[in-house]
Amino acid sequence: MIIDGKKLAENVRQSLKKIIDEEKIVPVLAVISVGKDKASQIYVRNKEKAAAEIGVKCDVYSFSDDVSQQELENLVLKLNCDKAVNGIIIQQPLPKALDGDALLDLISPQKDVDGFGVFNAGRLLLNEKGGLVAATPKGILRMLESTGETLAGKHAVIIGRSKIVGRPLAALLLNQHCTVTVAHSKTQHLPELCQCADILIAACGQPKIVKKNWVKKGALVLDVGINRDENGKICGDVDFDDVVDVAKFVSPVPGGVGPMTVAMLLENTVQTCLVQTKEN
Ligand code: NDP
Repeated sequence: MIIDGKKLAENVRQSLKKIIDEEKIVPVLAVISVGKDKASQIYVRNKEKAAAEIGVKCDVYSFSDDVSQQELENLVLKLNCDKAVNGIIIQQPLPKALDGDALLDLISPQKDVDGFGVFNAGRLLLNEKGGLVAATPKGILRMLESTGETLAGKHAVIIGRSKIVGRPLAALLLNQHCTVTVAHSKTQHLPELCQCADILIAACGQPKIVKKNWVKKGALVLDVGINRDENGKICGDVDFDDVVDVAKFVSPVPGGVGPMTVAMLLENTVQTCLVQTKEN
């Protein structure tokens, strides 16, 4: 069966719109974008569009590649203090000359709607409630939950250990009582390891690397990758056509994790807006 991330994301957006209308709030998301990376520009536009549809105001701050660290830090500090702003994100990747981690850690934890800062990432790792959880892992968990399968006790193998996907996802699934293995580029015997997975999540940016013989019969397979295949078509890290008959559930690319990531970012923004509105 296919996990329809597009449909799930639409349901999330509809619920958020209802909350926004009922509570009469206008959540504001500040997006800091640096450089002219084409994929990043598309992601920012997608976020703006999805936000506008449900009544979240998206303020995009665009800079050229040569912007200074100081200028960006000043902006983050200003946005932290701005009561009209509920969430702040810094579109990745940043040019190498900039210290992205320092910028992320400067974002107020209450406005860190990407959940990438050390405070929210630490809370997730320690399984402390009330923090902001990174959008992609949060969306993946919702997609897994949508299958109705019990997660506790399952062996989850995650391919990829990045700060934005693999690591927070490992913490999130551990908190759901999965047994978690995180694989990366130095992992040995990857296909055999993946064959042991009840839940297999591919987040390594390698087009269609996961084949049928990597997948245990009846596994749940989630594909995070966004790549181009040899014909320039968008594809995931999973060879969907090869795997679809072996897996019990599989998510497609496009139309899987991507739309859920955007929906979860909006959910985090609405959540922070509700909290901040009550506080002010
Ligand atoms: P990174 O490049 O930051 O991390 C990739 C990870 O995969 C690293 O841990 C790397 O290992 C590992 N890896 C790379 N090649 C292999 C391999 N052959 N075998 C095993 N592990 C490997 O990528 P991101 O986490 O940012 O993104 C991963 C993919 O997900 C990309 O395609 C990206 O576009 C997509 N993405 C999609 C999102 C969505 O919303 N759908 C959101 C975010 C990302 P090592 O650490 O050893 O280098």
